[in-house]
Amino acid sequence: YKNAPPSVREFWLSTAAFADRPYLVYGDETLTYAQTHAKADAVAAWLLAHGVKPGDRVAVAMRNFPEWMVIYWACVSVGVAVVGMNAWWTTDEMAYALGDSAPKVLFLDDERLVRVQARPDMVAGIKLVGVRLVAAHPGITPWDDVVANGGAMPDVAVDPEADACIFYTSGTTGNPKGAQLTHRGCVANLFNLMYAGASTARAMQLATGLEPPAEAPIPVTLITTPLFHVTANNCGAYATTAAGGKLVMMYRWDAGEALKLIARERVSSMSGVPVMARELINHPDFLTSDTSSLVALAGGGAQVPPDLVLKIEDKVSTARPGTGYGMTETCGIITSVSGDFFVDKPDTAGPSMPNFEAKCVDDDGNTVPPGAIGELWVKGSSVIKGYINRPDATAASITDGWLHTGDIARIDENGFIFIVDRKKDMVLRGGENVYCAEVEATVYRHAAIAECCVFGVADERLGEEVGVAVVLKPGEVLSDTELREHCAVLIAKHKVPRYVWFLDEPLPRNASGKFLKRELRDRLSPA
Ligand code: ATP
Ligand code: MG
Repeated sequence: YKNAPPSVREFWLSTAAFADRPYLVYGDETLTYAQTHAKADAVAAWLLAHGVKPGDRVAVAMRNFPEWMVIYWACVSVGVAVVGMNAWWTTDEMAYALGDSAPKVLFLDDERLVRVQARPDMVAGIKLVGVRLVAAHPGITPWDDVVANGGAMPDVAVDPEADACIFYTSGTTGNPKGAQLTHRGCVANLFNLMYAGASTARAMQLATGLEPPAEAPIPVTLITTPLFHVTANNCGAYATTAAGGKLVMMYRWDAGEALKLIARERVSSMSGVPVMARELINHPDFLTSDTSSLVALAGGGAQVPPDLVLKIEDKVSTARPGTGYGMTETCGIITSVSGDFFVDKPDTAGPSMPNFEAKCVDDDGNTVPPGAIGELWVKGSSVIKGYINRPDATAASITDGWLHTGDIARIDENGFIFIVDRKKDMVLRGGENVYCAEVEATVYRHAAIAECCVFGVADERLGEEVGVAVVLKPGEVLSDTELREHCAVLIAKHKVPRYVWFLDEPLPRNASGKFLKRELRDRLSPA
């Protein structure tokens, strides 16, 4: 791409051309591209005027308010790295991440302010800016003061190798680590997204310098997951912004609310984890809601159970199912699949992007034959630089540019990648590997199931046994024996869950909407 922007700064500046198109929608508020640029210019000028320098960090600890994106574009445009603070973190977790990332400024909302007030030492030396605070607080600069004076975007040369943002991994398998996403990596991700079909016309424009054809559809994306993770930010927001589209934001995920927004804003795709697409389809209002604007559904960030792929195809008349596989450590998605390819192979995550190599390796790091199962290693231009303050974890995760994903996968002869399980989630039952995703896919094939999650349960004799936590659809009745019989027809006996727990409330999930397997295991496992 000879016309590709060298850094995220140039990319953001190029979107000023979308001028009066609506960009950020939240409740009944809308900001156009021009209005967002004006605010981002002001924030960038304010930061530099208050002693923040390129190479410094600025943290954001708030819900998905429009200001999140304004701050993001302001910072990356002046070479300041954005630290995405998980809004779900407790006081102690916030304190840890602030100590770890040492930002110069912290933008925060009321809920996060309460946590800071519980342990004020965590913000010693950090300038605070309040966003949407209900009351004024001494020592906290109100957002309106930051944007009030306006100001032009400062002219700063941004190094493509500099960090654009520090995003913490979800912490699904352990403590979250602060991944360093560089400008070069984020721009490479942008092209991956456009290759995935999010905005092909704009990719062509960036690649060739030619104007995109007028009929290119303008995407409208419902952002359902938090902006401090790549699923919402580097995937949903980036792809939509590249095409001059509109981002519809939600305070918190709610399937009924999502259905209303889809109808009102004519949403074309929903960026989120697969369980959200399932909740949408299962919602009592689904059949009476206007979802005719949707062209794509499913999501990524976690395994899409194959039954969901087929249900989307079947039940959402206008939308095709699609997914991408990616990690914080790859700045976004590095595989993609949609439409007929996905319906044909509903258990795949798609082939890897053209700028990525993928291989499966055994425990010694040797490549396994095509079709064989091993740990997925990937190499390409959007792999992170490393984890801040964690040279040990960086060294353990990246070898000669190859990122060890920690996921077990197989790659077929056509290059389609099938994610089988996380290495740490795999159930080791009496010397046999049982892959959670396979068992979950089987359980989901029973029509009474709303949600399920499979995990290993410690067992004296076999090491581990297979357990499943299940939530039934309203009004459905099912016994554990019936569920086991359903599974026994479809999978080998040793994979059939020995333990079945029926829960009355939705399964616990983290900020990105992924099920909290470890919590379920600890809560449900017999003592
Ligand atoms: P941590 O690394 O802190 O334990 P995490 O791995 O959940 O947390 P993320 O970087 O947000 O943090 O998630 C990346 C992981 O999500 C991948 O390694 C993979 O296990 C899973 N994943 C993402 N997309 C897909 C997909 N399309 N299909 C299957 N799994 C996916
Ligand atoms: Mg991970």
